[in-house]
Amino acid sequence: MISPEGTNSANGINTNGASQNTALKVLIVGAGIGGLTAAIALRKEGHAVQIFEQSAFARETGAAIHLAPNANGVLRRLGIFAESFGANPMNRLTEYASTGAKQRSMDLRELNKQWQHPWHLAHRIELHKNLKSAATDPTAAGSVQLHTSSTVANVDPASATVTLDNGAQFEGDLVIGADGVHSVTRKFIPGSDFKPFSSGKSAFRFLVSRKLAEEDPETQHFVQDDGELIIWYANDRRVVMYPTSNNTILNFVCIHPEAETAEQSGQDWDQTGDLDLLLKVYSTFDASVLKLLRKAQPGSIKVWKLLDMDVIPSWTNNRLALLGDSAHPFLPHQGQGAGVAIEDAVALAVVLPLGTKPAEVSERLKLYQAIRIDRATKIQEHSRLAGQDLDSQAKADMYGFTNYNFGHDEYDNA
Ligand code: FAD
Repeated sequence: MISPEGTNSANGINTNGASQNTALKVLIVGAGIGGLTAAIALRKEGHAVQIFEQSAFARETGAAIHLAPNANGVLRRLGIFAESFGANPMNRLTEYASTGAKQRSMDLRELNKQWQHPWHLAHRIELHKNLKSAATDPTAAGSVQLHTSSTVANVDPASATVTLDNGAQFEGDLVIGADGVHSVTRKFIPGSDFKPFSSGKSAFRFLVSRKLAEEDPETQHFVQDDGELIIWYANDRRVVMYPTSNNTILNFVCIHPEAETAEQSGQDWDQTGDLDLLLKVYSTFDASVLKLLRKAQPGSIKVWKLLDMDVIPSWTNNRLALLGDSAHPFLPHQGQGAGVAIEDAVALAVVLPLGTKPAEVSERLKLYQAIRIDRATKIQEHSRLAGQDLDSQAKADMYGFTNYNFGHDEYDNA
């Protein structure tokens, strides 16, 4: 039950006679894609937001990510247009066997017209930069203060207080834990003290200049169609390639059994892998694929373990709520990690309109969880299924193409 007007808030603030439109003090832990989107959406409501980010943002990392129609629809409403920073439309999906035999190719241009919003292949760093400048825009409504090099060590969900590792304390009306897969804030949700575990798979990730592929007669046929995502499947490993940054860059994600790169991979995004090992892991793939892989710049290849986590039963405790990877770290096989974090972020702003009283916050956060948890859990489970060891034919027999779009269809026309 949301408390009636005029009751005392849980942090002792008397709301009797307070203006209908008093801004909430929102503390967000983590300025990743989810945390920054939440900041934009909540400041648009007129709230006063502070974000605490452990890194200095001196060296942003990340390669390309999918912004499917569900994510793009939300971003557009917030004024973020991925095409303005070079995101490619996803125009075609093609699958090959690892031997090089083409299994099927689907033109998505017509399908794209049916969706209310485009499906984009975006550069993560560009997306992050654009979210950061929208979140901290001094001319926009509400207010946002971004504290970098500020690691949150402790949260008190009852008083909505965060404590940094240097002892500094900040009190608000609510705390949003947007601190990613290795979340610290998750520890403060009873029954949710789950740890991410290895999924048994790791991924190489790197970028290649598209021009290099275009100039090579053995690989130029792979870059004929702008906005084409290609997957080469073997039973227990795959190579995924798609363009971004106005078709100038090819993004590679190469998923394989974790044991084969155990000596190089870690749980972080910035572990460097090496080209020889990459070529060894994919040595059974067609020569044209190996030719593409060889174009990776030595030193630019990253390799990391893909983490999974049990579905947590609750995302909220009193005036603390989790969003994005801290609540539901997805395996990457549906390309929905960023998209669902973005959806979570705006759902929070929907349940916390300007005028929400501090005493109402914990009930409103329960409403947020009720709105979000089934959909996020479904996509978390589907992302696991999509990563199963199957060759491309078996995969197509099992799911068909339509399931590839899972997570977009339901929300396209929302
Ligand atoms: P994240 O984007 O992981 O953001 C969490 C943020 O919280 C980070 O900025 C982190 O530094 C901060 N943080 C963590 N702990 C604390 C703490 N105690 N105190 C303060 N701050 C804290 N996905 C892809 O599909 N492709 C990619 O190339 C890719 N690259 C990535 C690179 C990086 C560096 C990161 C952090 C994530 C990357 N992801 C990538 C994951 C993808 O961005 C997320 O799955 C998705 O966007 C969900 O976002 P999130 O906001 O929940 O979590």
